[in-house]
Amino acid sequence: MKISILGSGSEGNATYIDLAGVPILVDAGFSGKTLMERFLQIEVVPSCLKALLVTHEHVDHIKGVGIISRKLNLPIYITPESYRVAQRQLGKIAEGNLRFISGDFWIDGKVHVIPFDVNHDAARTVGFRLEGVNGKTVVVTTDVGSVTTDIAPFFRNADVIVLESNYDFGMLQACDYPYALKQRINSSHGHLSNEDSCRMIGEFYHSNLKKVYLAHVSKNSNTYEMALNTTLQELNARCISLDVEVAYQHHPTPMFEL
Ligand SMILES: [Zn+2]
Ligand SMILES: [Zn+2]
Repeated sequence: MKISILGSGSEGNATYIDLAGVPILVDAGFSGKTLMERFLQIEVVPSCLKALLVTHEHVDHIKGVGIISRKLNLPIYITPESYRVAQRQLGKIAEGNLRFISGDFWIDGKVHVIPFDVNHDAARTVGFRLEGVNGKTVVVTTDVGSVTTDIAPFFRNADVIVLESNYDFGMLQACDYPYALKQRINSSHGHLSNEDSCRMIGEFYHSNLKKVYLAHVSKNSNTYEMALNTTLQELNARCISLDVEVAYQHHPTPMFEL
């Protein structure tokens, strides 16, 4: 399998995954032009993509969904709840390329996609557990308001996890966001703090886990260093050695192969 986070943060999110030889994109929250530039940077030919999975309808996840679906004749998988809200922003999607998520499904007979609901303030938000027929598993969930025990099974035995580490609690309180926005971010339907996500990684850790990406790092209430250090300290305290990488907003992570 191969994975690269093309970019992550409040200005756009997109993750490229090649699982069992099936190239997939999870979210497309950048302009079509930026997405094409990022594909070039990671040396991926976008016309090879087989599917685009959408986690939820916030603009930092769907900005380029309609554009690249039309440009690449790419099927998109989205919940009906998110589609209803996002319809105008997405523009016309060819009938055969609009596929509503209702339970698990397969892509090309090689990737088993298992969506799961998470707490976040969109019409509906899902994370994805992707199981390849080659035995590799990736879990992607970038906007998660709170860690609940019911999502734990979806992380079981994953090789790679992409999880948000959105804000530092102290920086969020000190930054100049309006009070209501601070409340929204910190609520159980907002985003995960560094402390929340490092605890989650520590608890979901298993010996098969090869790599964790920290995603959706806020530019106003966090730093890449703080997100990384908080998780590394937590893992250290649990005597866990793990490859942890931060996903950046403005450039892709190097292609990781497993
Ligand atoms: Zn969101
Ligand atoms: Zn987001």
